[in-house]
Amino acid sequence: MIDAFEIQVTKVGESKLKNLSLENLPFGRFFTDHMLEAEYENGEWKLAEIKPYQPLLLDPSLAALHYGQAIFEGIKAYKTDAGEPFIFRPYDNYRRFNRSAARMNMPEVPEEIFIEGMRQLINIDSNWIPAKPDHSLYIRPFMFATDTMLGVKPSETYKFLIILSPTGPYYAQPMKIAVEEKYTRAAPGGVGFAKNAGNYGGSLIAATEAKKLGYDQVLWTDPFEHKWLQEVGMMNVFFVIDNVAVTPSLEEGTILEGVTRDTVITLLKEMGVKVEERRISVDELVEAHKAGKVSEIFGTGTAAVISPIKELKYQDYVMEFDTDKVTTAPEVKRRLTAIREGKAEDTYNWIFKI
Ligand SMILES: *Cc1c(COP(=O)(O)O)cnc(C)c1O
Repeated sequence: MIDAFEIQVTKVGESKLKNLSLENLPFGRFFTDHMLEAEYENGEWKLAEIKPYQPLLLDPSLAALHYGQAIFEGIKAYKTDAGEPFIFRPYDNYRRFNRSAARMNMPEVPEEIFIEGMRQLINIDSNWIPAKPDHSLYIRPFMFATDTMLGVKPSETYKFLIILSPTGPYYAQPMKIAVEEKYTRAAPGGVGFAKNAGNYGGSLIAATEAKKLGYDQVLWTDPFEHKWLQEVGMMNVFFVIDNVAVTPSLEEGTILEGVTRDTVITLLKEMGVKVEERRISVDELVEAHKAGKVSEIFGTGTAAVISPIKELKYQDYVMEFDTDKVTTAPEVKRRLTAIREGKAEDTYNWIFKI
């Protein structure tokens, strides 16, 4: 690891952990003792520092608040049975973060800050990684524009931060999903492949309206015909049709390139399941379902890992799945958990020891 970049460390006097049990914490509500903060100015990253978790003091004219140059990542750290902390596939998130940065006209964050800073931060707060099954430490790196003037242009200054949140098991309740036909999340040439804040702000209304009708989330479709399937909320989606796992392809740049998606594709292939990354239309899916060929549908993402779908609605047609009887998603999950818990070999180098 390059250590040309020295990270300054200021530690808390007393840990908040004294008053908190790490069992069954809700997702994203509690934060560890420390955070990392780095600043970009005059074309370069200045000294990064790890310091006590604290509020930021921001100018009301802050560019990110007005024009949305803001991106983030989501990663998880765990402890092995022997108590050793590790991060799951951080380099994949690091590369994706910089792809998001490039698309949003923001500077790249160097590895010495993103990876090495994350490693040091987690090392300092390693007592915060829950050691219970299915518990984890959620890692949230993010960057936003900090110029303070109201002209619309790429900011010249930025802040990059990493905060850490211990979480309990995210019980992946089987989901009810509706195919979205009114709103659009992403179009070719747009920012659908980037993890930028505005994608989420723009998509909330669709989920809110779906919830009123009893659905948990929407399955996004293309902006022109509302027919080509994209992804679900903050998850990629897999359809098992005739024993082939079909997942929408990434070529058009309208889908987030999920690290979990890639993990699942790799494990499906290991299981001998044929995987097809390609365009798939809702008509194809409905026809296959009518012919009894669709055995299961599931979503994949860092937060819940794998979430089974029990109901998918398209107009008046409802597809139902008995998620207690599906076999593909549980087997993928079993293999992934075995690698994470050190019970299966880490053949693909997914485990980054701290
Ligand atoms: C983060 C995200 C995913 C899942 O990506 P992972 O790397 O698997 O966590 C899928 N879709 C969207 C829109 C996302 O923001």
